[in-house]
Parts: sequence; C-alpha cells; structure tokens
Amino acid sequence: MREPVYYSGSAEFFDTHAHIYDWKFKAAGISTEEILQRCKSSGVTGVLIPADSEETSRIAVEMANKHDGYEGVALYASVGVHPHEAKTYTEDTEKYLRSALEARTGLKIMALGEIGLDYYYDLSERSVQRDVFERQMKLAYEYDVPIILHEREATGDCLDILRRFYKEGRMRSVPGVCHCCSCSLEASQELLKMGFYLGFDGPLTFKNNKKTPEVALNTPWDRIVIETDSPYLTPEPNRGCINEPCHVPFVCSKLAEIKGVTIDEAAQITYDNGKKLYGVD
Ligand SMILES: [Zn+2]
Repeated sequence: MREPVYYSGSAEFFDTHAHIYDWKFKAAGISTEEILQRCKSSGVTGVLIPADSEETSRIAVEMANKHDGYEGVALYASVGVHPHEAKTYTEDTEKYLRSALEARTGLKIMALGEIGLDYYYDLSERSVQRDVFERQMKLAYEYDVPIILHEREATGDCLDILRRFYKEGRMRSVPGVCHCCSCSLEASQELLKMGFYLGFDGPLTFKNNKKTPEVALNTPWDRIVIETDSPYLTPEPNRGCINEPCHVPFVCSKLAEIKGVTIDEAAQITYDNGKKLYGVD
C-alpha cells in the first residue's frame, strides 16, 4: 500500500464522523492509540465516533469514554441503528437506545445516528428501513438530540419522512446533520431550510465529482461540518489508503478552495460548527 501524506500546518480540525472501531483497522494492524497519535500530529483534536447498530453503539460509547483526551484528542459518540441494520431493530434495541440517551450527558453521547434510508445497498427491506428510521426520529425529538442522517439513493422517501416530522413540529430547530451529503443541490437546499447541517468528506475531493462541490458552494458557512467516514472514502491525495481522522484536513483544504478562504479559516469555522451541532462546550 502506498504511503499517505499528512497535513503539517497549525490549524485544528474536528472530524465529526469517523468509525474508528471498524474491523478494518484491526485487520490492518492499526491500534486506536496509533489513530489518535496521528490525529494529534495532524491537528485533529476532536472526533465523533458514530454508531450503526446496537453493538457498535456500545463500542462507540465505550471507546469515546475510554480514550477521551488521549494525545489531547476529545472524543464523542453517537448511538443508533443504520438503515443497513434496520432488520436487527427490536423492542430491546429501542430499550437500549432509550437507556443510553437517558444517560447521555455522562457518557459523551452527542447524537442519534446513523439513521436513515439506503436504497443503494438495500440490506434491509425498504419498509423496515422506513419504520426504523421513523421510530428513531421520534426518539431524537423526545430526547432532544440531533440526528446523524444517512441517505443514499433514497432522497424522495427520506425527504417525505423529514417533511412530515417538520410540518408536525416533531423535529428540533437543528434536526442534525446530513452526513456524507450526496443528494442534489435542490434536496440539499430543502434540508438546509429544515435546519440541517451538511457533512462533507472524501467525495468532495474526488476529481470526477462535480455535484458535491456545487452543493458545498451553495451551503452557508454556518451549516457545514467536515468528516472522514473512516475507514472509507479516503480523500485525495490519499485515495487508496485506509481512511483515518488524520486525513480530514484534506477535506477541509478542498472546502477552503471551493469557498475561497484559507484552510485556517475553514478549519476554525467547521470546528465551531461541529461543536454547535453536537452541543459540545
Ligand atoms: Zn458513517
């Protein structure tokens, strides 16, 4: 595997979405300590670890609490069930989510997610995905936490559900973040109107991707967060390497280029946005 390059400037970054517990790291012989050491040397001082099932919710929470502050990196977690895993959602899962959300302040749980719809892989039946998404939307409102939305090839149904919650007043004024935003300009504008933040990651830097830079250009600065979605979607110039939070500066630098600001300015703004979105002091 080729050697990645690293950011060496003085800006600080918040990777708002990195699955650092993923089996791919273990398989590649990369420890959590190494990941956090590389965060530190690349200026990544905040990382949110999102969940995709009950099992990874427990792991994300444990990891965020066990390693928080290691190498000066602040860690946070989310709990929730991804559309891929919707078929595993039971009454017991909901009981677990409720107990985790009740205890969230002491456990560094900042959000409910990833939740949403994925009609690209269709790993759970679509009707089940919609049902589980709605159940968790209700929980997010009940516990007053932002959601981490995962939407792929399901924009129509996803917006239908969100619109309904929005119109019925069952959504927070800041509903959450559309992570790895891949929808159309039109859909992204509707999400922004509902109060969502948009999360950008590796695909923003891909040379053949014209749509995402246009979406980013048309998103107000105060609604943008950056993320890696590690271990997937490695940004340029490190495409082909396993993705780690230490690569988030390259997403930030592309964003800065699109918006016509310096990387330091883009880092500061997206850091503040991440803190606001997740309610971090
Ligand atoms: Zn993810």
